[in-house]
Amino acid sequence: MFSRLQPVATDPILGLMAAYKEDPNPLKVDLGVGVYKDEAGHTAVLECVKKAEKLRLDLEDSKTYIGMAGDLSFNAHIEKLAFGPHKVLLEGRTTTAHTPGGTGALRVAAEFIKKANPDATIWVTSPTWANHISMFQAAGLKVKEYAYYDYDTKGLKEDAMFADLATVPAGDVVLVHACCHNPSGMDLNFAQWQKFTALAKERGFTPLVDMAYQGFGLGLDEDTQGLRYLANEVEELILCTSCSKNFGLYRERIGAVSVVVDSNKMLETARTNLLAVVRSIYSMPPAHGAIIVSHILDSAELTALWHQELAVMRNRINDYRQLIIDKLQAEGVQQDFSFITKQHGMFSFLGINKEQIERLRKEFSIYMVGSSRVSIAGLNHSNIDYFAKAVATVLK
Ligand code: PMP
Repeated sequence: MFSRLQPVATDPILGLMAAYKEDPNPLKVDLGVGVYKDEAGHTAVLECVKKAEKLRLDLEDSKTYIGMAGDLSFNAHIEKLAFGPHKVLLEGRTTTAHTPGGTGALRVAAEFIKKANPDATIWVTSPTWANHISMFQAAGLKVKEYAYYDYDTKGLKEDAMFADLATVPAGDVVLVHACCHNPSGMDLNFAQWQKFTALAKERGFTPLVDMAYQGFGLGLDEDTQGLRYLANEVEELILCTSCSKNFGLYRERIGAVSVVVDSNKMLETARTNLLAVVRSIYSMPPAHGAIIVSHILDSAELTALWHQELAVMRNRINDYRQLIIDKLQAEGVQQDFSFITKQHGMFSFLGINKEQIERLRKEFSIYMVGSSRVSIAGLNHSNIDYFAKAVATVLK
């Protein structure tokens, strides 16, 4: 039977990671993988996480199953972090399950959508995180793209985006990135969130908000501005969150899926359907990451430390966005790279061509994905000049 299988092409980002690892050049630079790195090029465990883990070691008294919805204290914290003091929480219209990563949240969301409307099409930004498309298709949903990033202007294709969204029928789902759009870094401004919301109400589509980078853009609350407005206006939505980036808990696989319903009468139906999906995929989530986050958010001291550490990560990325522009200018580059500071989060497209990307890899051991998406946190004081010189060389 297995002989019927065909090999599957590996994700280009994973291939890039492998090539980088094998490259013997001591000056090599990895701008491929979407993982935060500090000035030393290291993805360190946050201090608040270390402290919470010590606490956990002392307090943990059982390894029994955690339940399908996962850690209830984590779920309450994560709802508050996302929505703040919001009517969807006060009115008891939100149900949350903690999941194995943001990826797990998205897969559960997809299966939940499939149960609610097997004919639903899910609309994603063009472009979007590649795994969105594979995951939704694997769940049996149809996927369509709506216009989003404009590679020429390096901004949003605003008119085309709203024209596409104006064709979405009731019963379909539209995925929107809450902040720090992956891969473009280009986010909706508040006026665009308002327009998006008006269309959701007018057309009757359900928003699916993916918030994998809360706190990496402008700030923990600032990054939820669009989400909170949307949740105030629409009757229902789905939110997928991740603690991989903002708590640096990548390998612990911790995220959450929240379903907001139009009245608390629907809550039990939504909750039991969500849990039925969970039960049929992995039964119950892993506990460790959720409990670490709970310990942090239960403690004012650890929360303050987390805010500090998160600000360091966010500010470092934003500083390097400016530094890229300054250093390229200092190298005599004429092209306008000012769009980089208009974008947020881990990524931006440099906007260079395939040949230039190839030269950067072959001649300078600088690795980025074929779309020219760079992970800004891969830059630091010891490689930024080398990077700027190399980019200036291939742009000549
Ligand atoms: N959504 C987006 C847009 C992402 O970029 C990612 C991570 N690359 C995720 C969701 C999922 O993250 P994880 O499963 O690692 O929590």
